[in-house]
Amino acid sequence: MLKVEVASRLRGLPPYLFAEIDRLKQEARARGVDVIDLSIGDPDMPTPAHIIESLKGAAERPENHRYPSYEGLFSFRKAVADWYERRFGVAGLDPQTEVLSLIGSKEGIGHIPLAFVEKGDVVLYSSPGYPVYPVGTLFAGAEGYPMPLLEANDYLPDFKSIPADILKRAKLMFINYPNNPTSATAGMDFYNEVISFADRHNIIVCHDAAYSEVYFNGKKPLSFMQAPGAKETGIEFHSLSKTYNMTGWRLGCAVGHKDVIAGLGRIKTNLDSGVFQAVQEAGITALRTGDEVLAPIRNTYEKRRDALYNGLTGLGLKVKKPEATFYLWAKCPDGLDSRAFAKLLLEKAGISATPGVGFGAPGEGYIRFALTVDVPRMEEAVQRMGKAL
Ligand SMILES: *Cc1c(COP(=O)(O)O)cnc(C)c1O
Repeated sequence: MLKVEVASRLRGLPPYLFAEIDRLKQEARARGVDVIDLSIGDPDMPTPAHIIESLKGAAERPENHRYPSYEGLFSFRKAVADWYERRFGVAGLDPQTEVLSLIGSKEGIGHIPLAFVEKGDVVLYSSPGYPVYPVGTLFAGAEGYPMPLLEANDYLPDFKSIPADILKRAKLMFINYPNNPTSATAGMDFYNEVISFADRHNIIVCHDAAYSEVYFNGKKPLSFMQAPGAKETGIEFHSLSKTYNMTGWRLGCAVGHKDVIAGLGRIKTNLDSGVFQAVQEAGITALRTGDEVLAPIRNTYEKRRDALYNGLTGLGLKVKKPEATFYLWAKCPDGLDSRAFAKLLLEKAGISATPGVGFGAPGEGYIRFALTVDVPRMEEAVQRMGKAL
């Protein structure tokens, strides 16, 4: 009989820290508990109708049924470059060499270490953070170095604390603002610091900007590409998933340094065949979407944020009020670690939230709530928590 043994790169994967919470959630549901799920980082609202219409039209056309071009439709890449100019004032991105289509930004984030690092090299990534940064690093055979995001530093990494022997071997760095899971945002000073640090140590910067369009009070987050020298230092990953409620469509992009874009592109031409062209055409429509469609989506998240933020602070929890992303990052009550608190919420209140330690050790002591349920559900969650705590 076949004896299946997985490769060391799978054996080396970090333990899945959400397994226990997932199991408890399923058990609660099986017992008939009406679980309020605040653990899901996936918009609950539908994709705007005009984008769906655009896909329908594009899907009818036979030229879209064939293999797409590897680097993406020129018209999609051009739409990305135009969007960067309109939204961020970043002019002159060359759609041919400085923009690449991705099958969702996760795909690009997971693959980029394969192009630039190997055994002996180090990848720096912020922690707590998106689990794909360490996993992509591990699959490429390189060593990861988590840069802690601490409340005391406004959840920005402290480059001065990175040891010299790590810096010598560091080739690539992942950062992410607006940040998942902490909801922190970054200013231009920080991006300037990133560029001078990366330039000094010859490190490729990969900025993950998946949440740049999910913001509140009209305070628009910055793009890394707005910083002088960004395009000479690295790339930015972008995604249509969170902005346009398109997580299932799998469409993202990378923009920036042409040699970095080319390296990632070479990995991709050897592994995948690009994004369904009809989806890219719908993506062009999405990128032209105005505030008449996006503002109501932001307002919906803002109302939910206020309901949950006010509710949780009213219960005495310490919560960071987010200016962007659809997450609330809250401190666990004294004496409870993040898994114990998540377990208590599930068992005593029928609420599912994500323990901070699941995003990396520096996330211990915090819990993440996603704003992906409506206000009445949110208010019920707060009520239930009030009884449980
Ligand atoms: C959701 C998310 C992504 C990627 O989403 P895609 O759907 O793959 O484009 C990337 N980074 C962070 C931090 C995310 O939360």
